[in-house]
Amino acid sequence: MSSVQASAAVPVPGLASPSADPLDALVHWSRLLGADPSLVLRGGGNTSVKTDEADVAGRPVRVLRVKGSGSDLRTAKRADFSGVRMDDVLPLFERAEMSDEEMVAYLARCLTDPGAPRSSIETLLHAFIPDGSVFHSHADALLSLINTRDPHAVLDEVFGEAVLRVPYRRPGFLLSREVGEAVRAAPEARGLVLLNHGLVTWGATPEEAYERHLALVAEAREYLAREGNPRVFVSDPRLRLDPRARRKVAAALAPVIRGALSGERRVIARYTDAPEVLEFVGSEHGRRASAAGAATPDHILTTKIHPLWTEVHDPADVEGIAAAFRVALERWSADYRAYVERWRTDEPELEAAPRVVLVPGIGMWTVGRDPKAADLARDIYLHTIGIIAGAESISEYRSLPEEEGFRAEYWPLELYKLTLAPPERELARRVVLVTGAASGIGRAVALRLAAAGAQVVATDRDLAGAEATGVLIHAAQGEGSALACPLDVTRAEEVEGAVEAACLEYGGVDVVVSNAGIAHCAPIEELELEDWERSLAVNATGHFLVTRAALRLFRRQGTGGSLVFVATKNVTAPGRDFGAYSASKAAEAQLARVAALEGGEIGVRVNMVNPDAVFGDSRLWSPEIRERRARAHGIDPERVEDFYRTRNLLGVEVRGEDVAEAVLFLAGDRSSRTTGCMIPVDGGVKEAFPR
Ligand code: ZN
Repeated sequence: MSSVQASAAVPVPGLASPSADPLDALVHWSRLLGADPSLVLRGGGNTSVKTDEADVAGRPVRVLRVKGSGSDLRTAKRADFSGVRMDDVLPLFERAEMSDEEMVAYLARCLTDPGAPRSSIETLLHAFIPDGSVFHSHADALLSLINTRDPHAVLDEVFGEAVLRVPYRRPGFLLSREVGEAVRAAPEARGLVLLNHGLVTWGATPEEAYERHLALVAEAREYLAREGNPRVFVSDPRLRLDPRARRKVAAALAPVIRGALSGERRVIARYTDAPEVLEFVGSEHGRRASAAGAATPDHILTTKIHPLWTEVHDPADVEGIAAAFRVALERWSADYRAYVERWRTDEPELEAAPRVVLVPGIGMWTVGRDPKAADLARDIYLHTIGIIAGAESISEYRSLPEEEGFRAEYWPLELYKLTLAPPERELARRVVLVTGAASGIGRAVALRLAAAGAQVVATDRDLAGAEATGVLIHAAQGEGSALACPLDVTRAEEVEGAVEAACLEYGGVDVVVSNAGIAHCAPIEELELEDWERSLAVNATGHFLVTRAALRLFRRQGTGGSLVFVATKNVTAPGRDFGAYSASKAAEAQLARVAALEGGEIGVRVNMVNPDAVFGDSRLWSPEIRERRARAHGIDPERVEDFYRTRNLLGVEVRGEDVAEAVLFLAGDRSSRTTGCMIPVDGGVKEAFPR
């Protein structure tokens, strides 16, 4: 097993070498296990070590340190392993049965620290194995061997009788006892396979349990490499498109798919056309195999048992695929309701919508409440494809029995976890596209809406500036919450490109903030035609192109939408020497009103905010504009801010953040009965009162 030795010795950056402390050793070897996604996917697997500790009064006590719920082995730290008193849990081995609720309540009282995270649902499995350390994973290669028509024959061939087997049973007390009995009856075994579920190994130390784990996985991989067919799934050549054309179709389909899957609550949809996905979804063989179901009970909570498969005849025919998708969705939902009916439960029915959508020739969408959840579904299904390919290459892929799948999906303990999730923020599940997001009001709006939970597509002519806004959002809200796109709003193809990018990244758009604008200052007698036309191109035509693209997208998506225009106080009260600006912004305002008239029938609300004199990092206020506005008002350029502040009723400076608050109100559901409206954010300028 030299290969295993070698991989065990690979240092992981930022990871201290294991010390003599058993818990430190557990952290070290758990992180190594968690570092390989083909062994452990985010949040999956669990590990433990038994240690001698002192209790609160200083008395010696034997403690099981086992992964707590909600932590990830890849980033495990000491505090993630809850301590459970062995003297309290070992007597349970004599019991005949114990319900999940009883077990969870019992284990909570065995914790050495009452504030520790709830210990894993597989805690008793770790406790009942007498050895010092236990490792459990759902390694891909193992699942390829055991999710097959005749897993016993396959296991015989790969491991002989050296590895124990326990038939599928939902994690809980009975499974733990069966595992404990099997291991105690055959302590010399190299490991234990939980059919349709995963692998368990043990040893005197975490290092030993880890190395045995990796040795068995390595043998499984070697067997698959030797006996399996490396190209199980081969896509139909008639379904192949070049990548550009494929992504064009995907961008047009995404809002249709996202809209249809956004029932009571919206979802974020992630797209991938990874080569293995295209081969799988493009083959008849993949279609049949995918119908078998999930690879482990854990996965069902994220992906549901079955993906949705769309019939595709011509991969370039967007409308044909969209129609086929709707038919497939109706069938999927009907099948899901029948499945819930078949296995009846007291738990309320979960949403009858798939989380994985497969479209031959185009790729795969996965959905979730946010990009992270959708990415987890994507990662799980990518691994599922690999597991299915392995199983099909040596036998025939089989999932756990349908009833067991149902019990895993409707497991009260997992449903309870869902109720513990924090309440969602105002713009959670929404995608917002902001133009002119590199600075000033646009940046303030992007940051504010992201803080309210939105996924933000920050666009600007200045891509570096838009990217900087994206970096600020990622730093505050986490990776995946923003996308930066180059966008000159006067160019129709760039506007369409930005909307397509949003659709590929998040599945669609819910809110568009049409903000990009320029200012030009000159008395009409001196105004150059070129400057007039440039103002109209950005401040009028730009808004038209953005509005047209937004309305077309909202109609395809079918979930309404909100358009917010950043207009200006000048719309209602124009200023002298500001002809090009005031006239072009008035065109924007009139366009917004017409968009409100036309958008109502599809649930699209259109509103405006009218800021006045927002300075900060605004690029509108170039030194030249400042100079010219000062001249128009007959004041010193240094005093421009003071001038604007003192001329409003409240005597306040208006900031980008103030405008962003009004935009947030108009973007979200708090203004669900408001359209065609104009909100001034100007400190009170009486000439500009809307009427
Ligand atoms: Zn498991």
